[in-house]
Amino acid sequence: MAWDFSTEPEFEAQLEWMRGFVREEIWPMETLDLSLEQVNELFKPLQEQVKERGLWAAHLDAELGGQGFGQLKLGLMHEILGTTPLAPFAFGNQAPDSGNSEIIALAGTPEQKDRWLYPLLNGDIYSAFSMTEPNSAGSDPTLLTTRAVKDGDGWVINGHKWFTTNGSLADFLIVMAVSDPEARPHQRASMFIVPTDTPGLEIIRDVPTMEHPEDRFGHFGGHSEIIYKDVRVGPEALLGPEGAGFLISQQRLYPGRIHHCMRWLGQAQRAFDMLCERSLVRYSHGSLLSEKETVQNWIADSAAQIHAARLMTLHAAWKMDAEGVAAARKEISLIKFFGANCLHDVIDRALQVHGSLGYSTDLPLEAMYRYARAARFYDGPDEVHRASVSRQILRGYEAPGDGVPSEHIPTRRDAARQKFAWLLEAATAND
Ligand SMILES: Cc1cc2nc3c(=O)[nH]c(=O)nc-3n(C[C@H](O)[C@H](O)[C@H](O)COP(=O)(O)OP(=O)(O)OC[C@H]3O[C@@H](n4cnc5c(N)ncnc54)[C@H](O)[C@@H]3O)c2cc1C
Repeated sequence: MAWDFSTEPEFEAQLEWMRGFVREEIWPMETLDLSLEQVNELFKPLQEQVKERGLWAAHLDAELGGQGFGQLKLGLMHEILGTTPLAPFAFGNQAPDSGNSEIIALAGTPEQKDRWLYPLLNGDIYSAFSMTEPNSAGSDPTLLTTRAVKDGDGWVINGHKWFTTNGSLADFLIVMAVSDPEARPHQRASMFIVPTDTPGLEIIRDVPTMEHPEDRFGHFGGHSEIIYKDVRVGPEALLGPEGAGFLISQQRLYPGRIHHCMRWLGQAQRAFDMLCERSLVRYSHGSLLSEKETVQNWIADSAAQIHAARLMTLHAAWKMDAEGVAAARKEISLIKFFGANCLHDVIDRALQVHGSLGYSTDLPLEAMYRYARAARFYDGPDEVHRASVSRQILRGYEAPGDGVPSEHIPTRRDAARQKFAWLLEAATAND
């Protein structure tokens, strides 16, 4: 019977190597404020090691220089990479470049792959995904307002976007724009590859956020606000068929959510380790914190949440590998909100147990807490995923025709009396 929770020994050896590599080589960099040039310099030799181990760009199929691992193995890798936001750069699968390379691999023409995909995979250029707008609800992309209007054989794009992560250092943007407002809601938008030096494209700022409260421009992880004013692109800019923007983005988002959730688990485990460690050393009111029932509950609850989120995420990855992306829709929505809340809760408890030290920048917890907050609404807010799960589950139910709950005991008792009448009658006759 195939119901196996083990990892094959060869791959477990790779994961073990990754754990040591990420902790020893990458965690120390977190404590420095490195420039883009310094990051690139430090990462080149690390990237070579990753390539030699056959772990580079593992999200892509072998013919594109990736490993074709599938979502389950990728998920296990991302759990390790998620322990620090820097690790994905060493492995050639940092967001949003990894998702964007998947899109071009999926929908790009040979020319688009030559011009954008291969340099992206080599780490020679950067990309960004430009969909969310300040003036329409990102949680409902059918409301997008950015327009792409046909002009000769090319297009003219007008619109206002924000939260285009890495937009201010990207070489090109994948822009989602409405190409046919009369089409059915999910067939209105198309994707375009737009080089960032195209006239009319203006990157106004990187929006200061909880994650990066300081006002700065052109750093990794900056979320750019962008105006598209009469941005003219040729026919070669269209990525995939006209009107296929939503379809393609779903292909990208589903696996991306597995990777997010596994990275969150890496973060949550790191916070959990800090929680446990502190509880064993801090003494207050006559005992160590580890001896207080509340802290014991936090440790047990956090362990249970992490374990549940991990099993749910790996199961979703397994289902995606076994049955395809669409088959795992419900499981992916489940882990998206469950995982985001697990991350939040574990970091919150770890921060609480450290008191003022946890709140200070002497520990990474305050930054982890700020980053984690966004997980509850990017890639679909919790509420939207919950509603989606609920809808899918309710498809398996129907309202009782007579309005009486099917578990109503008096009704069931009447039915049972009929079903077992022979027995009940015999018992009465014997009285
Ligand atoms: C760190 C980070 C990185 C990001 N990177 C990118 C990127 O690279 N490219 C990009 O295009 N975008 C990016 N985004 C934007 C992100 O995708 C959007 O924030 C997200 O889609 C939500 O859209 P919104 O912010 O417009 O919120 P809204 O759509 O305005 O939603 C706000 C709130 O409304 C509530 N809500 C919405 N719908 C429902 C519903 N059906 N039922 C109940 N409540 C509901 C929820 O509480 C939700 O949080 C990023 C965001 C963050 C924080």
